[in-house]
Amino acid sequence: MQRNADTIERTERLGAHNYHPLPIVISRAEGVWVEDTEGRRYMDMLAGYSALNQGHRHPRIIQALVEQSERVTLTSRAFYNEPFAELLELLTAITGKEMVLPMNTGAEAVETAVKAARRWGYRVKGIPAGRAEIIVCDGNFHGRTVTVTSFSSEPSYKEDFGPFTPGFITVPYGDLGALEQAITPNTAAFLVEPIQGEAGIVIPPDGYLRQASELCRKRNVLLMADEIQTGFGRTGKRFACDWEGVVPDVYILGKALGGGVMPVSAVAADSGILGLFEPGSHGSTFGGNPLASAVAVAALQVTEEEELAERSHRMGGKMLAMLRKIRHPDIIDIRGRGLFLAIETRVPARYYCERLKEAGILCKETHEKVIRLAPPLVISETDLQWAVERLAEVFSTV
Ligand code: PLP
Repeated sequence: MQRNADTIERTERLGAHNYHPLPIVISRAEGVWVEDTEGRRYMDMLAGYSALNQGHRHPRIIQALVEQSERVTLTSRAFYNEPFAELLELLTAITGKEMVLPMNTGAEAVETAVKAARRWGYRVKGIPAGRAEIIVCDGNFHGRTVTVTSFSSEPSYKEDFGPFTPGFITVPYGDLGALEQAITPNTAAFLVEPIQGEAGIVIPPDGYLRQASELCRKRNVLLMADEIQTGFGRTGKRFACDWEGVVPDVYILGKALGGGVMPVSAVAADSGILGLFEPGSHGSTFGGNPLASAVAVAALQVTEEEELAERSHRMGGKMLAMLRKIRHPDIIDIRGRGLFLAIETRVPARYYCERLKEAGILCKETHEKVIRLAPPLVISETDLQWAVERLAEVFSTV
């Protein structure tokens, strides 16, 4: 207990309090399981906010990390490196897009997409200088930088962080009519999460993405899908857009692209969009570095070869059916797609997350009243069943 308490004390005393973690110190992890400093085991049902789709320390990803670390880790984009070329080849093949621009974090990839959309708006669509608009959705979450925070609808994310970046128009999520009305000749892009993750696993009405995609095409507006949390199998398809057969103009990717090992993000689009960047117009010291690229290549290979999307589809369906058998007056709704699930509660979800931790399951509330359940996609059926039994127990004893 001393080791745990000491780590927590130093973290709280010396670190900024921009998170509210559960009181557990994780010192080892493998697959879907983590261990604290006292050797207690927990199932990880958060999976690094979906960055650990391939599981903790997947042997093939770790092998790529170790092997690349023995050759070269950083060149900067001032020079070329081989793993980066390999990553570009793989990611363009997987997305079907002509080009990729790598960054590190999700928020940076969103910023990159915003810059790309604005450039396309001015140089291709012919929007008058300084007038480009991007439509976003109420309840969105795209990251924490100032520009991205500028179009958040969550007051606590914005309080005393202004002045904000202009040029964003907000419409209700899932409302096609509102989107249609919001489009003007100055609209460069519509930026959307195919399923809103941080808002509480909010699934839009059937047909919304497909119709939004058709509308964008008709009105010459780019559709930019933020698949940072939903991509790479999380929702039971390779991309959540695949649920409606939608191919966005711009994919914004991150999290599981780095296999839970390195921060790797990227924007994928055709050359008519990403080809508008010339040397000096954008960049990142670490974006496309050989270590991260080698890790991302292995992460993508594992995702495809282990058919994690199909697995997520199968296991997620089973989990949802099992969860829906749990009845409790505090449960308002149980929903999800693939292994991207949520239990919405009448009371603050934190209370249940703390009880679940005592029962050996780690998860975290999103907003106040949603328990997000998003284990690594490599989870076995036995482990899944174990988890649902613990959940049922927690809801039957409180
Ligand atoms: N976009 C979405 C949909 C996300 O879920 C997140 C993170 O949760 C981000 C962007 C930001 O990613 P990062 O935290 O890597 O900047």
